[in-house]
Amino acid sequence: MRANKQSLVSEIANERISVLFDLAKKCAETDPELSRKYVRHLKRLGTHCRVKLPKEIKNGTCGKCDSVLVPGLSAKVRIASSKRYVVYECLNCKAERHVHY
Ligand SMILES: [Zn+2]
Repeated sequence: MRANKQSLVSEIANERISVLFDLAKKCAETDPELSRKYVRHLKRLGTHCRVKLPKEIKNGTCGKCDSVLVPGLSAKVRIASSKRYVVYECLNCKAERHVHY
């Protein structure tokens, strides 16, 4: 028996978000626009259901154009060692995401 309705909603939303992210990663190379559509949808789903996106998804997508950041394909990755973060630069819109380590 579930605790309440919200936990059921979050469980279903998390499952759908991970399925959508897998689909977005799969078609990132063949159909980038469809991939961005999947990412936009999963972000909207997370907002609507009040579910926090996992770090893997948050750091693996562009915050500006919703592209999936695949190193070598849609993202350029470099290390800013003096500032202790990794820079993911989206090759679609040139936005940068800093991931601290
Ligand atoms: Zn972008």
